[in-house]
Amino acid sequence: IFAAVEMAPRDPILGLNEAFNADTRTTKVNLGVGVYFNDNGKIPLLGAVKAAEAARLETQPPRGYQPIDGLAAYNKAVQALLFGQDSPLIANAQAVTVQALGGTGALKIGADYLKQLTPASTVYISDPSWENHRALFEAAGFKVETYPYYDAATGGVAFGAMLAKLKTLPAGSVVVLHACCHNPTGADLTDAQWDEVVAACREKGLIPFLDMAYQGFAEGIEPDAAAVRKFAASGLQFFVSSSFSKSFSLYGERVGALTLVTDSKDEAARVLSQVKRVIRTNYSNPPTHGGAVVAAVLTSPELRQQWEEELAAMRTRIREMRKGLAERLAERGVKRDLSFVTNQRGMFSYTGLSAAQVETLRTEYGIYAVSTGRICVAALNSRNLDYVADALAKAMI
Ligand code: PMP
Repeated sequence: IFAAVEMAPRDPILGLNEAFNADTRTTKVNLGVGVYFNDNGKIPLLGAVKAAEAARLETQPPRGYQPIDGLAAYNKAVQALLFGQDSPLIANAQAVTVQALGGTGALKIGADYLKQLTPASTVYISDPSWENHRALFEAAGFKVETYPYYDAATGGVAFGAMLAKLKTLPAGSVVVLHACCHNPTGADLTDAQWDEVVAACREKGLIPFLDMAYQGFAEGIEPDAAAVRKFAASGLQFFVSSSFSKSFSLYGERVGALTLVTDSKDEAARVLSQVKRVIRTNYSNPPTHGGAVVAAVLTSPELRQQWEEELAAMRTRIREMRKGLAERLAERGVKRDLSFVTNQRGMFSYTGLSAAQVETLRTEYGIYAVSTGRICVAALNSRNLDYVADALAKAMI
């Protein structure tokens, strides 16, 4: 059965990691992978997580099966983060949240369920988008197209073209939107632009699917939820995939959630029953540890406070690295307007470097970036910043 199997293409980003690990240069820098590193170049284990884990180990909880939709306290806490504690969607029990295996797992459950609801729809993702969006929705059986997003000239969003495209889409089209900290470009919509996107979704009968993998990485937990809150206030039905991989630095624990906003409590109950079938036939129920830790942090006033401070420190460090990089590039004679580096939000920046320039960075300096020119700003630190700025400036001039 395996004789005719062909080798699948390597994952572009994970393949980059393998090449980085094999590189023997001590000055090497990995700006390819989408992970937050602290100033020592390490993935942090947050103090709030450590405390919640210690308390959990202390009680030695049994490891029975979780409910199909996961831990109720976790799902409740997710809704409060997404919509705000006082949201009518929560009071009316209109929103359904299920614990998922990271943001990816949430997208997968959402995509599989959407395929049952609206099998003939086309899914539209931003151009460019996180590369797994296309693969995930295609694997669920959808045709996937793009809408214009990135404006290479400004390093911002080509909003006019984006909106014009959305307004041409047939009713029932699924539109995948990055709620904040767009991956890979770091270019986000303004509040006023979100209002226009919400209006276009309403006017054209589109199905919004918001992907929020970086809540808290741009401005803060509340401001970063602005797009989700606008959709919540619109009366539209929509999907949200969310993830704690980055905001809790719990990448390997696979903690995310899928949330579906319906019209009523009754509808929500019916939808939940169907989503549970999707989960049951996929992996049955989610793992215990990550969700329990996140729920413990979010429901304890002290740990929540500690987490918010730690999240703010990650956010501030990323901003400092952006500022530091822009300043150093300017000092080294890069003439291009570098405001995009500081304006872009979240972990990534689209540098405008060509694939050939990215290749030169790798071969000559041991600096690894994605061939599209995406760099992970969260992998910069006080020790590698000058080295990276030297190399980038040479490539950019
Ligand atoms: N969506 C986007 C836009 C992402 O950048 C990522 C993470 N790279 C995910 C979803 C997936 O998140 P997770 O690692 O929690 O599966």
